[in-house]
Order: sequence, then C-alpha cells, then structure tokens
Amino acid sequence: MRAGATGRFAPSPTGTLHLGNLRTALLAWLYARAQGAPFLLRIEDLDRGRVRERYEVEQLADLAAIGLDWDGAIVRQSARTDHYAEALATLDAAAATYPCWCTRAEIREASSAPHGPLPEGHYPGTCRRLTAAQRADREASGRPPAIRVAAGAAAIAFRDRLHGEQHGVVDDFVVRRNDGAYAYNLAVVVDDGAQDVGEVVRGDDLLDSTPRQLWLADRLGLGGRDGMSFAHVPLVLGGDGARLAKRHGAVTLADRAEQGESAGEVRARLAASVGLAAPDERPSPAELVARFDPERFAPPPSGPLPGL
Ligand code: GLU
Repeated sequence: MRAGATGRFAPSPTGTLHLGNLRTALLAWLYARAQGAPFLLRIEDLDRGRVRERYEVEQLADLAAIGLDWDGAIVRQSARTDHYAEALATLDAAAATYPCWCTRAEIREASSAPHGPLPEGHYPGTCRRLTAAQRADREASGRPPAIRVAAGAAAIAFRDRLHGEQHGVVDDFVVRRNDGAYAYNLAVVVDDGAQDVGEVVRGDDLLDSTPRQLWLADRLGLGGRDGMSFAHVPLVLGGDGARLAKRHGAVTLADRAEQGESAGEVRARLAASVGLAAPDERPSPAELVARFDPERFAPPPSGPLPGL
C-alpha cells in the first residue's frame, strides 16, 4: 500500500446522485481499494439552504447498492465548523485575508475591464485595493462582507494522474461567504488534511480549484502537494453535451431500477464506460479492484454514457 493513499468521496447532499456522480464515486473507491488503502465518506453539507437530510440517506444507500464500502465514521462538515474557524484565524493572523463587499455583477463587470482577461470566475482584487474611506463606506453599509484570501496571484504547479502537469494562478478566492458559511475550498483543505487524504479523486470540473487548495494547504501548514495524488476524472454528459442532469432522463439508480436495470448492471455500465469492463460483462466490485491499475488508468474524455 502506498503511504497516504487514503481516498474519499465527498458528496453534497443537495440532490440525488446521478450516474456521473456514481461513476466518480466508483473510481475514487477503486483508486483507494486497488492500493489497499482506506476509503472515507465525507458529507459536504455546509450549504444549509440547499442541504436535505433525505438526500444524504439516499446517497449512502445508492453508494452501498453499487457495491462501495467505506471505513470509519462518516464525517459531516456541518459538525466541523470550529476547525474551519480555526483555519480562518490562522490566515487572519498571517494577514492573508481581507473582507470583500463585491456583488457578483460587480465582479463580472470588473473582470471584463481592459486589464487583460482573467480566467473564468477569478476575482480581480477590487476590495484588496480599497482606500480607508472606501472601506469605511462599505462597512457602514451594513452589508456583511465575504472573506477572501490575498493570494498575490501565486503560481502553483502540480501533476494530475489523468491530466498531467498543471499550472495555475491562484486568485483571491472566497474562504467564507457573506452569509457566514465557510467556503468549499477552505473546508475541503482542512478536512483532507485532518483525514490524511492522499488520493483525491473527483470530477474534472474541479481541476481548476486544485491550485487554490494547494496554496491554502501550504498556508495552513498541511503539507499540500507532497505525497498527494490527484485524479480529476471525466464527467458524464447528457446527449446534448451538457453535464448530466435530471432533464436527461433516467439518470439515477432509482430511475434505472424503474427501467429494469439492477444496481449491479449500473456498476457494470459505469465500469464499461471507462474501459474497465467489456459491454456484456458484469464484474463484481472485487473483480474491478483486481483489474484497476491507478498508474495506468486512462479513461476516455467526458462524454455521454454509451447506450443511455
Ligand atoms: N462536494 C464536492 C462535489 O460534490 C466534491 C468536492 C471534492 O471532492 O473535493 O462536487
């Protein structure tokens, strides 16, 4: 077993897992289990407005139904806010944060200003440059600020198992939203550090978040990139090329069951779609573990599931 190969799946209980989520979970499980490593489940339930307990119950049942198991107690982020507060205090103490009052519209506008284009979703640093008077004005407005890090456009390089060498510039991303909720990037870094996760497997829509997380891990003394592996796996798309969603039809385990497809058949379909099984095969979870090679796994790019 590779030291620090502990893996995890970290769903947000804001909906039913669809086949794309289930395939990501299966792959995260395979990366860990093929190395004989622990596999953890973490419930990312910080977005209290969107979280529903019934989704968590359903998600766990669906993961178990396709044959995945996990180690130890399930961790819920909602029970870990003290740790996020502590991490934020560490950043504050290092003068690595600042309050931000910008609205989405203001950020969009500032990003398209002629200073050269910013990568999609990157923050242009407006509130970092406020004069004392401007800041006092905003403080007087009563609108609560979000908290951003002052990342100084740090350049971060890392290797992804599937995407190769990556280089990213870290923007001043949000670590606490203006409604008080700790942001995904902060929570994920604190938790992966605390849980000693070394094998991060998740959808490739999060590839661009990784430099932010590595930067944060460094700032929080969590070791960051040393010994950590990343695999950003392809997403399942609908027939129209958009990310899989309810409107694409029978996309959940329950939907598939209604069509007469068992959970084992769904597992086989997911495995076949990334080259881990022949189309007519029904491999068991143990058989998939035996044939999965974390060093060589090379799935096709994001696309629809064959035959769906
Ligand atoms: N909660 C995130 C999601 O559902 C996963 C984050 C991660 O794996 O780092 O997409």
